[in-house]
Amino acid sequence: MSESPRVVLLGAPGAGKGTQGRRLADAFDVDHVATGDIFRANADMETEYGTPQEYMERGELVPDEVVNEIVREYLSDLDGWVLDGYPRNLAQAEYLADLGGVDVVVHLDVAREELIDRLTGRRECAECGATYHVDFNPPEEAGVCDECGGELVQREDDEPETVETRLEEYAAQTKPVVDFYRDDAPEVDFVSVDGEQSLDGVFADVREAVERRVEDS
Ligand code: AMP
Repeated sequence: MSESPRVVLLGAPGAGKGTQGRRLADAFDVDHVATGDIFRANADMETEYGTPQEYMERGELVPDEVVNEIVREYLSDLDGWVLDGYPRNLAQAEYLADLGGVDVVVHLDVAREELIDRLTGRRECAECGATYHVDFNPPEEAGVCDECGGELVQREDDEPETVETRLEEYAAQTKPVVDFYRDDAPEVDFVSVDGEQSLDGVFADVREAVERRVEDS
Protein backbone atom coordinates (compact mmCIF):
# COMPACT_ATOMS: atom_id res chain seq x y z
CA MET A 1 0.00 0.00 0.00
CA SER A 2 1.21 3.53 -0.69
CA GLU A 3 1.12 6.21 2.05
CA SER A 4 -2.41 7.03 0.87
CA PRO A 5 -4.88 4.62 2.42
CA ARG A 6 -8.06 3.39 0.74
CA VAL A 7 -10.71 3.45 3.44
CA VAL A 8 -14.38 2.47 3.44
CA LEU A 9 -16.57 3.91 6.21
CA LEU A 10 -19.62 1.77 6.90
CA GLY A 11 -22.47 2.54 9.22
CA ALA A 12 -26.20 3.16 9.25
CA PRO A 13 -27.60 6.54 8.26
CA GLY A 14 -26.80 8.85 11.18
CA ALA A 15 -23.81 6.84 12.41
CA GLY A 16 -21.46 9.77 11.72
CA LYS A 17 -19.86 8.74 8.43
CA GLY A 18 -19.89 12.25 6.97
CA THR A 19 -18.36 13.97 10.00
CA GLN A 20 -15.74 11.32 10.59
CA GLY A 21 -15.09 10.84 6.87
CA ARG A 22 -14.21 14.50 6.33
CA ARG A 23 -11.86 14.55 9.32
CA LEU A 24 -10.21 11.29 8.31
CA ALA A 25 -9.66 12.40 4.74
CA ASP A 26 -8.08 15.64 6.02
CA ALA A 27 -5.84 13.78 8.46
CA PHE A 28 -4.45 11.45 5.77
CA ASP A 29 -4.57 14.01 2.98
CA VAL A 30 -6.82 11.98 0.69
CA ASP A 31 -10.15 12.73 -0.98
CA HIS A 32 -13.44 12.24 0.85
CA VAL A 33 -15.79 10.63 -1.68
CA ALA A 34 -19.35 10.60 -0.34
CA THR A 35 -21.90 9.15 -2.76
CA GLY A 36 -24.81 10.77 -0.88
CA ASP A 37 -23.18 14.22 -1.27
CA ILE A 38 -22.58 13.52 -4.97
CA PHE A 39 -26.24 12.59 -5.48
CA ARG A 40 -27.49 15.63 -3.54
CA ALA A 41 -25.31 17.85 -5.76
CA ASN A 42 -26.63 16.07 -8.90
CA ALA A 43 -30.17 15.30 -7.76
CA ASP A 44 -31.72 16.15 -11.14
CA MET A 45 -29.26 14.21 -13.27
CA GLU A 46 -31.22 12.26 -15.90
CA THR A 47 -30.35 8.56 -16.14
CA GLU A 48 -32.15 5.69 -17.81
CA TYR A 49 -33.44 4.78 -14.32
CA GLY A 50 -34.77 8.26 -13.53
CA THR A 51 -33.14 10.93 -11.36
CA PRO A 52 -31.28 10.33 -8.04
CA GLN A 53 -33.83 12.66 -6.41
CA GLU A 54 -36.65 10.13 -7.01
CA TYR A 55 -34.79 7.46 -5.04
CA MET A 56 -33.46 9.74 -2.33
CA GLU A 57 -36.85 11.21 -1.48
CA ARG A 58 -38.21 7.68 -0.95
CA GLY A 59 -35.15 6.70 1.10
CA GLU A 60 -34.29 3.95 -1.42
CA LEU A 61 -30.96 3.12 -2.97
CA VAL A 62 -30.08 4.57 -6.37
CA PRO A 63 -29.54 1.68 -8.87
CA ASP A 64 -26.10 0.06 -8.83
CA GLU A 65 -25.46 0.83 -12.51
CA VAL A 66 -25.63 4.56 -11.78
CA VAL A 67 -23.67 4.50 -8.50
CA ASN A 68 -20.92 2.18 -9.71
CA GLU A 69 -20.16 4.28 -12.76
CA ILE A 70 -19.94 7.46 -10.67
CA VAL A 71 -17.62 5.83 -8.14
CA ARG A 72 -15.42 4.43 -10.90
CA GLU A 73 -14.99 7.91 -12.37
CA TYR A 74 -14.30 9.57 -9.00
CA LEU A 75 -11.70 7.00 -7.95
CA SER A 76 -9.97 6.65 -11.30
CA ASP A 77 -7.27 9.29 -10.66
CA LEU A 78 -6.85 8.81 -6.92
CA ASP A 79 -4.27 6.80 -4.97
CA GLY A 80 -6.06 6.95 -1.66
CA TRP A 81 -9.56 7.93 -0.59
CA VAL A 82 -12.17 7.74 2.13
CA LEU A 83 -15.38 6.30 0.71
CA ASP A 84 -18.48 7.29 2.64
CA GLY A 85 -21.83 5.73 1.71
CA TYR A 86 -20.40 3.15 -0.69
CA PRO A 87 -20.54 0.17 -1.00
CA ARG A 88 -24.09 -0.18 0.26
CA ASN A 89 -24.83 -3.71 -0.97
CA LEU A 90 -22.84 -6.81 -1.88
CA ALA A 91 -22.93 -6.13 -5.62
CA GLN A 92 -21.30 -2.74 -5.02
CA ALA A 93 -18.69 -4.35 -2.75
CA GLU A 94 -17.80 -6.77 -5.57
CA TYR A 95 -17.57 -3.92 -8.03
CA LEU A 96 -15.22 -2.04 -5.70
CA ALA A 97 -13.01 -5.15 -5.39
CA ASP A 98 -12.78 -5.21 -9.20
CA LEU A 99 -11.72 -1.55 -9.17
CA GLY A 100 -8.69 -2.46 -7.04
CA GLY A 101 -9.98 -3.07 -3.54
CA VAL A 102 -9.79 -1.57 -0.10
CA ASP A 103 -7.18 -1.40 2.69
CA VAL A 104 -9.25 -0.62 5.77
CA VAL A 105 -12.97 -0.89 6.51
CA VAL A 106 -14.20 1.01 9.54
CA HIS A 107 -17.67 0.22 10.81
CA LEU A 108 -19.31 2.88 13.00
CA ASP A 109 -21.59 1.04 15.41
CA VAL A 110 -24.60 2.99 16.74
CA ALA A 111 -27.88 1.65 18.23
CA ARG A 112 -31.14 2.19 16.38
CA GLU A 113 -32.79 4.54 18.93
CA GLU A 114 -29.74 6.77 18.89
CA LEU A 115 -29.73 6.82 15.08
CA ILE A 116 -33.33 8.02 14.99
CA ASP A 117 -32.59 10.82 17.51
CA ARG A 118 -29.54 11.88 15.55
CA LEU A 119 -31.18 11.87 12.12
CA THR A 120 -34.29 13.78 13.06
CA GLY A 121 -32.23 16.52 14.84
CA ARG A 122 -29.58 16.75 12.16
CA ARG A 123 -29.01 19.99 10.26
CA GLU A 124 -26.67 20.59 7.37
CA CYS A 125 -25.11 23.73 5.93
CA ALA A 126 -26.63 24.49 2.53
CA GLU A 127 -23.34 26.10 1.45
CA CYS A 128 -20.45 23.94 2.69
CA GLY A 129 -22.13 20.71 3.87
CA ALA A 130 -20.91 20.91 7.50
CA THR A 131 -23.25 18.97 9.79
CA TYR A 132 -24.77 19.88 13.17
CA HIS A 133 -27.37 18.57 15.58
CA VAL A 134 -29.92 20.81 17.27
CA ASP A 135 -29.17 19.24 20.70
CA PHE A 136 -25.93 17.25 20.49
CA ASN A 137 -23.78 19.52 18.33
CA PRO A 138 -25.50 22.90 17.94
CA PRO A 139 -23.94 25.79 16.02
CA GLU A 140 -23.03 28.92 17.97
CA GLU A 141 -25.98 30.74 16.44
CA ALA A 142 -29.14 28.71 15.69
CA GLY A 143 -29.60 28.08 11.97
CA VAL A 144 -26.19 29.51 10.94
CA CYS A 145 -23.08 27.55 9.98
CA ASP A 146 -20.04 28.18 12.24
CA GLU A 147 -17.69 27.44 9.36
CA CYS A 148 -18.99 29.65 6.58
CA GLY A 149 -22.09 31.53 7.82
CA GLY A 150 -24.34 29.54 5.45
CA GLU A 151 -27.95 28.62 6.25
CA LEU A 152 -28.56 25.34 8.10
CA VAL A 153 -31.31 23.15 6.65
CA GLN A 154 -32.86 19.75 7.33
CA ARG A 155 -32.31 17.13 4.65
CA GLU A 156 -35.62 16.04 3.10
CA ASP A 157 -34.71 12.42 3.72
CA ASP A 158 -34.20 13.06 7.47
CA GLU A 159 -37.97 13.28 7.94
CA PRO A 160 -39.34 10.43 10.10
CA GLU A 161 -41.01 8.16 7.45
CA THR A 162 -38.01 8.37 5.14
CA VAL A 163 -35.65 7.69 8.03
CA GLU A 164 -37.59 4.45 8.66
CA THR A 165 -37.14 3.30 5.05
CA ARG A 166 -33.44 4.20 5.05
CA LEU A 167 -32.85 2.16 8.21
CA GLU A 168 -34.70 -0.80 6.64
CA GLU A 169 -32.61 -0.51 3.49
CA TYR A 170 -29.49 -0.49 5.66
CA ALA A 171 -30.53 -3.63 7.57
CA ALA A 172 -31.47 -5.53 4.41
CA GLN A 173 -28.75 -4.41 2.00
CA THR A 174 -25.78 -2.92 3.84
CA LYS A 175 -25.59 -5.11 6.96
CA PRO A 176 -24.46 -8.05 4.73
CA VAL A 177 -21.61 -5.84 3.49
CA VAL A 178 -20.45 -5.33 7.10
CA ASP A 179 -20.56 -9.11 7.64
CA PHE A 180 -18.70 -9.73 4.39
CA TYR A 181 -15.77 -7.43 5.24
CA ARG A 182 -15.64 -8.72 8.82
CA ASP A 183 -15.80 -12.46 8.02
CA ASP A 184 -14.84 -13.09 4.40
CA ALA A 185 -12.30 -10.51 3.25
CA PRO A 186 -8.95 -11.47 4.83
CA GLU A 187 -7.03 -8.89 2.78
CA VAL A 188 -8.98 -6.07 4.39
CA ASP A 189 -8.38 -4.66 7.93
CA PHE A 190 -11.85 -4.56 9.44
CA VAL A 191 -12.46 -2.52 12.61
CA SER A 192 -15.76 -1.89 14.36
CA VAL A 193 -15.74 1.34 16.37
CA ASP A 194 -18.17 2.37 19.13
CA GLY A 195 -19.89 5.25 17.33
CA GLU A 196 -21.70 6.45 20.46
CA GLN A 197 -18.62 8.07 22.01
CA SER A 198 -17.90 11.79 21.68
CA LEU A 199 -16.97 12.99 18.17
CA ASP A 200 -13.32 13.18 19.25
CA GLY A 201 -13.46 9.75 20.89
CA VAL A 202 -14.83 8.16 17.72
CA PHE A 203 -12.26 9.96 15.62
CA ALA A 204 -9.37 8.76 17.78
CA ASP A 205 -10.45 5.13 17.23
CA VAL A 206 -11.06 5.59 13.51
CA ARG A 207 -7.74 7.30 13.02
CA GLU A 208 -5.88 4.64 14.95
CA ALA A 209 -7.37 1.88 12.79
CA VAL A 210 -6.13 3.57 9.62
CA GLU A 211 -2.75 4.55 11.09
CA ARG A 212 -2.04 0.97 12.07
CA ARG A 213 -2.50 -0.13 8.47
CA VAL A 214 -0.38 2.72 7.07
CA GLU A 215 2.45 1.90 9.50
CA ASP A 216 2.31 -1.83 8.73
CA SER A 217 2.62 -1.30 4.99
P1 AMP B 1 -26.35 9.28 2.42
O1 AMP B 1 -26.07 10.73 2.45
O2 AMP B 1 -25.11 8.44 2.34
O3 AMP B 1 -27.27 8.84 3.54
O4 AMP B 1 -27.13 8.99 1.05
C1 AMP B 1 -28.35 9.64 0.73
C2 AMP B 1 -29.10 8.86 -0.35
O5 AMP B 1 -28.28 8.80 -1.54
C3 AMP B 1 -29.39 7.41 -0.01
O6 AMP B 1 -30.58 7.27 0.77
C4 AMP B 1 -29.54 6.81 -1.40
O7 AMP B 1 -30.78 7.16 -1.98
C5 AMP B 1 -28.46 7.53 -2.19
N1 AMP B 1 -27.16 6.80 -2.13
C6 AMP B 1 -25.99 7.22 -1.56
N2 AMP B 1 -25.03 6.30 -1.70
C7 AMP B 1 -25.58 5.26 -2.37
C8 AMP B 1 -25.10 4.00 -2.80
N3 AMP B 1 -23.84 3.60 -2.57
N4 AMP B 1 -25.96 3.18 -3.46
C9 AMP B 1 -27.23 3.56 -3.70
N5 AMP B 1 -27.75 4.72 -3.31
C10 AMP B 1 -26.95 5.58 -2.65
